Amino acid sequence: SSPAKPDLSDVLPRLNDMMREDDHWGDVAAYIPQLATVDPAQFGIAVVTADGQCHVAGDTQVPFSVQSITKVFTLAIALGRSGDQLWHRVGREPSGRAFNSIVQLEQEQGRPRNPFINAGAIVTTDEVLGNREPREALAEIMRFVREAAGTDDIHINDTVAASETDFGHRNFALAHFLKSYGNLINAPERTLGTYFHHCAMEMTVQQLAMAGRFLIEAPDVPRLVAPSRIRRLNALMLTCGHYDGSGDFAYRVGLPGKSGVGGGILAIVPGRASIAVWSPGLNRYGNSQKGTEALALLARHMDWSIF
Ligand code: GLN
Repeated sequence: SSPAKPDLSDVLPRLNDMMREDDHWGDVAAYIPQLATVDPAQFGIAVVTADGQCHVAGDTQVPFSVQSITKVFTLAIALGRSGDQLWHRVGREPSGRAFNSIVQLEQEQGRPRNPFINAGAIVTTDEVLGNREPREALAEIMRFVREAAGTDDIHINDTVAASETDFGHRNFALAHFLKSYGNLINAPERTLGTYFHHCAMEMTVQQLAMAGRFLIEAPDVPRLVAPSRIRRLNALMLTCGHYDGSGDFAYRVGLPGKSGVGGGILAIVPGRASIAVWSPGLNRYGNSQKGTEALALLARHMDWSIF
């Protein structure tokens, strides 16, 4: 007889205990002052399986700033609006550089390497914005996320958005650079206003894992995008979702994932589950330190690596 399937309702609490055993939480992002106030010694995890069951452990009630994880949703919306035309404006290759790097933008004449580095996500946000008012684009993004998560109780933290705007000189530089190459439809501050606000969205791990279900590709999950597109979103998450740490994440975890500088990670087990982890302390790539560790252990334990 085959060994019993590991039961997530046992596995997650044990994982939570293990994560709290040592003090190597990493450092919270300091370049957004509002995020620097978060206590790094927190950890939460939620797993939603394709059949709709949800398992959670740790700090599951705290809404955290999802930041760059929203880039997956804006990419899905941008592809829905513009289809493959989008790829004229942004590439599909890993950058091997920090999330906020500017050097390749000059080398590649204003076409960002991929939609998950900041420059690329500013472009997808600009595409979603089109000729509309920022609040209309934000309403569409919120509608998409709330529908994916199956709850209306997901909101944007305006204080975090303002904090990022005040100190967002890098992103302003990127946006102006894009504009100088003719790769921005809107005025830089308009596109960035939209970008900062969707990045400042807050969710609990359970809400985020629920919101990720549309990426599982299974019969009973919300069908927000076509299956062929789901595979491509997952391919981009695997190759580019952790910036210059993407190779390391694929090596250690073996799952498509998207991180955010608030310490969240959304990881997808194709056909089987959506996982959200959150721990605000970051590693040197700006990805959650304990979140990555926990995903590596979980994927190994559940035999969930795609490889
Ligand atoms: N809003 C953040 C920024 O633009 C997102 C970065 C991240 O989560 N890696 O810097």
